[in-house]
Amino acid sequence: MVTKACTRCHRLMEEDRCAVCNLTTSKNWSGFLIIVDPDNSPIAQELQITLPGEYALRVR
Ligand SMILES: [Zn+2]
Repeated sequence: MVTKACTRCHRLMEEDRCAVCNLTTSKNWSGFLIIVDPDNSPIAQELQITLPGEYALRVR
């Protein structure tokens, strides 16, 4: 899998650098999450996710 995850916001993407955080992304992630409704998702609130999308549960 070539998808990478931002180390701060956990968003999954192909780019080497997160456009939101301006941080390098990591291939070392686990736990695929789809957040549809961040306002009503406890896990989204725990990870401080505010935008719907695909995320990693853990990123190293
Ligand atoms: Zn980010």
